[in-house]
Amino acid sequence: MSIEDIIRRDVLLKPLTTMKTGGPASYFAEPSSEEEITGLLDYAKEHGLDVFILGNGSNVIADDEGFEGLIIKLGNNMSSINVEDDPDDSEYGFITAQAGCLLSKFGNTAATAGFEGAEFSCGIPGSVGGAVFMNAGAYGRDISDIAVEVRYIENGEVKLKKVSKDDFGYRTSFFAHNGRIVTGLRARLKKGDKEAIDALVRELRDKRNASQPLTVPSCGSTFKRPEGYFAGKLIQDSGLKGFSLDDSGAQVSPKHAGFVVNNNGTAGSGDIKKLINYIQDKVYADSGVRLECEVRFLGGSEK
Ligand SMILES: Cc1cc2nc3c(=O)[nH]c(=O)nc-3n(C[C@H](O)[C@H](O)[C@H](O)COP(=O)(O)OP(=O)(O)OC[C@H]3O[C@@H](n4cnc5c(N)ncnc54)[C@H](O)[C@@H]3O)c2cc1C
Repeated sequence: MSIEDIIRRDVLLKPLTTMKTGGPASYFAEPSSEEEITGLLDYAKEHGLDVFILGNGSNVIADDEGFEGLIIKLGNNMSSINVEDDPDDSEYGFITAQAGCLLSKFGNTAATAGFEGAEFSCGIPGSVGGAVFMNAGAYGRDISDIAVEVRYIENGEVKLKKVSKDDFGYRTSFFAHNGRIVTGLRARLKKGDKEAIDALVRELRDKRNASQPLTVPSCGSTFKRPEGYFAGKLIQDSGLKGFSLDDSGAQVSPKHAGFVVNNNGTAGSGDIKKLINYIQDKVYADSGVRLECEVRFLGGSEK
């Protein structure tokens, strides 16, 4: 089988993103191995194609015009997960997952195994790879608290890196640079009280359900938390909670002002970006704080 056999043409991005925007990707593949990823990178190089790595599409706004290049989606085909005891310390265990594994599955697997510390991840709708790239986190914890090793590809070479907190920042990481592609995560977690772990998973899920618009398309928090402030509070203080510029479907969520939502999936990326720009300008005019996007843009220009 040649690498071309796994490449599809003109694949619509809209169904592959939680914001439900995006035209076609001219080339698209969902590899099953690191070898296939490097084969795809070689193919892209030979054909002069830009490459974008897509995880679960929960933090990207894909452009209405689509993407003139190759999307490499790390999903189901690379989603194995494995639980082991730490042979050197019986109080700890390891969870090793491929990049395409859903982060919620990762968190739930940890909880089922009786490992504590990954409860925060159960409600984040990304992939393990996207979560490492973004250093996803919630309720005071993030990937940097649990990651001990990351597999990745850089310049076509598969590498393994022992990681510490220094390799991660607020919603970013070492792996968000230099075209690195995360292929797997190994986390070390302490064994805990299973009932307490399950109770914390439920508590965080209930908190999320109560405060976030989880049934409407979105990318979660649109903006990074500015130092010393909360984006949602600044947006609310600017009177924008529930605000929309038009009837496109793009709206500041009436439930959580930090979320821009796409009601019924009818808004295009242009509508969402217009609203994001409006929010940034209004909040800046009112508070002097320039909100920076946490969401990433796929295709088109960067806003
Ligand atoms: C309802 C909702 C709630 C959310 N809540 C949270 C939250 O509590 N905390 C939080 O941090 N985030 C949250 N998010 C945002 C999102 O889930 C996270 O940022 C997540 O980590 C993105 O993972 P993904 O696989 O969906 O990445 P994608 O959206 O597919 O990609 C995001 C970025 O990561 C890159 N990327 C993805 N996979 C890889 C890989 N394997 N190697 C290299 N680069 C890669 C992409 O190129 C892109 O730049 C939420 C989103 C939604 C919709």
